[in-house]
Amino acid sequence: METAFPQTAAAGNAARVEELASDPRVARALDWLAKNVAWVNDEQVHITEIPAPSFLESARAVYLRKLLSCCGLRVRTDDVGDVIAERPGEVAGNVVLVTAHLDTVFPPGTDVKVRRNANRMAAPGISDNSTGLVALVAVARALNEGKIKTRMTLVFAADVGEEGEGNLRGMRKLVENYGDRLRYVIALDGASTDHVTAAAVASRRVEISVLGPGGHSWSDFGVPNPIHALSRGLARFVKVRVSSEPRTTFNVGAIEGGTSVNSIPDRATIKVDLRSESEGELDHLEAALREAIQAGVDEEMAAARDRGITGREPNGKLEIKLRVLGLRPAGELAETLRSLLPCARPIAIWAIARTASDLPPTPISRSRLASRQFPSAQADAPGEPIHSASGTTLRAVSSACNAFCSLCWASPVWN
Ligand SMILES: [Zn+2]
Repeated sequence: METAFPQTAAAGNAARVEELASDPRVARALDWLAKNVAWVNDEQVHITEIPAPSFLESARAVYLRKLLSCCGLRVRTDDVGDVIAERPGEVAGNVVLVTAHLDTVFPPGTDVKVRRNANRMAAPGISDNSTGLVALVAVARALNEGKIKTRMTLVFAADVGEEGEGNLRGMRKLVENYGDRLRYVIALDGASTDHVTAAAVASRRVEISVLGPGGHSWSDFGVPNPIHALSRGLARFVKVRVSSEPRTTFNVGAIEGGTSVNSIPDRATIKVDLRSESEGELDHLEAALREAIQAGVDEEMAAARDRGITGREPNGKLEIKLRVLGLRPAGELAETLRSLLPCARPIAIWAIARTASDLPPTPISRSRLASRQFPSAQADAPGEPIHSASGTTLRAVSSACNAFCSLCWASPVWN
């Protein structure tokens, strides 16, 4: 959700950002970033070329473990596969969590070789989320190079299961483990560095199956057909009007069922993705989906009776089964934090100017988690087989640092 931030708060805090930027330790850290762009790009390529479909992230996790270890951090892996590196602060207790997800939407077997063309790199998943991963490592390393100490403990985590049916299992585990110690969370994700995501979209993903007796297309004609029933239900559901404010969307992303053209199937299944900026709207949409499918089943049962053959007993009825694939609650940054976000801009310009003048002054990466709420994925991009990067890494690194800096002085974490 794009939101206008209060200008007065931004202006009032800009001086503090300038002050922070002039700290020699910060300057050292940013200088290290500026001089090591080639290293960052190379590591982004290396990460990208290790396949990491959701639930198969382990090889990439091993590599991230190695990279974070090189930053002088103690690294461990939790029991779901998250790679976690803690950078102790001066005060025990509260932590700032910086995350980037390990997994991609691309299935096993996808060619993930990075193709370079001048200053452009392209490959499946190079932005979502090798950008975030390499930024995670680069920020950790730059902090070390700058010999920066923080008051709170920083936790760098490469988390599993962010995409699709991963259902945020890695992030859920992190939130569960750190619990009340979590003060702030920053999620670095994707190529867009010109905005901060300050609100998380809620989503529900469900698989709906309609089961029936099945039969032969000729001899059993009249038996209720699960594909007919689902089709009838879907035809109703897709006519549902959804709100544009708060934005609410739906998608039937997969449909399957049946075995041959001349048999009545005994099962048909759909997978549906529902999203909204409002939990209330999502409740309505989910109710509409359930009602539509039920109506489709009822209609098909009635049609079967009309066709002149009563469904065979006791298996002549249709049954609906619903399986939840994912639940992601909505979240929103507190207003006090929102008002601080624009203040990172001076450092973004400042950092980028040191490295390449042709890059736009794009501040901050994505911050998607307020306090202890779960983040929700930005629109995944399963329809985009190739993510491209043009100076992406550089922007992500400086942006990640900016997101970091803005939090540091806001918390105040910075020492
Ligand atoms: Zn992502």
